[in-house]
Amino acid sequence: MSTEKVRGIVIREIPVGESDKIITLLTKEKGKITLSARGARKPKSKYLASCELFAYSDFVIYTARKYPSVSSAVLINSFYGLRKRLDCFYCGAYLSEICNRLIFEGTDCSECMLLLLTALNRMSKGLSESFITSLVFELKFLLINGMLPDLGVCESCGKSLEGSAHIGSDGLLCSDCAKDEKEISSGAVKALRYIYNSDIASVFSFKADKKVVEGISAVRDSVMQRQTDREFKTYSMFKDICLEKNE
Ligand SMILES: [Zn+2]
Repeated sequence: MSTEKVRGIVIREIPVGESDKIITLLTKEKGKITLSARGARKPKSKYLASCELFAYSDFVIYTARKYPSVSSAVLINSFYGLRKRLDCFYCGAYLSEICNRLIFEGTDCSECMLLLLTALNRMSKGLSESFITSLVFELKFLLINGMLPDLGVCESCGKSLEGSAHIGSDGLLCSDCAKDEKEISSGAVKALRYIYNSDIASVFSFKADKKVVEGISAVRDSVMQRQTDREFKTYSMFKDICLEKNE
């Protein structure tokens, strides 16, 4: 039996039997891993808090059976603030589902992990709104994974985009190349460029008016649809809550 130390965040939890759990973590050391957490649902379990969704902890794991198991855990951050606001909680659940579905076991996920931690931390502290956080996260996540086209140039003629732009089939189009594709404002084009070029520490810290958010949102819809032919279970719940909030 071997033991190892990893630092990771819980992106999925599945109850098993009466008191156990299977948890999936993003870790810096081993990428995405799945662990068995025996007794983690018992109220007196020493690692109850460390095995909950969004919990960021130092784990000691041992491998003896099918899944490696949690041997001990020390909680670093539970991002408790997310549990006080329904929209932020469901946004966090949606971002976690993106990570779980689109990151493969055994691949380096340290940048995506940092992106998730930054998004959860900002929402938990009330520094970022959930809807804009989801947009920025999705686009940056696709960029990190090589799935986002260059949004600074026209996809057809390659000209650098100045002013407004149109949503093309694989990115953005300048007004010379566009026919009747949906137009987005120059503010939205600038915001997209900011998301594209900023580092993870500062990518979430910008404010956008309604028109800009609409533009980014339309680009996100088009890119996400093309790149991920998957339906995310948590996305419809999150979207419904955002719509209710804005009514
Ligand atoms: Zn063009």
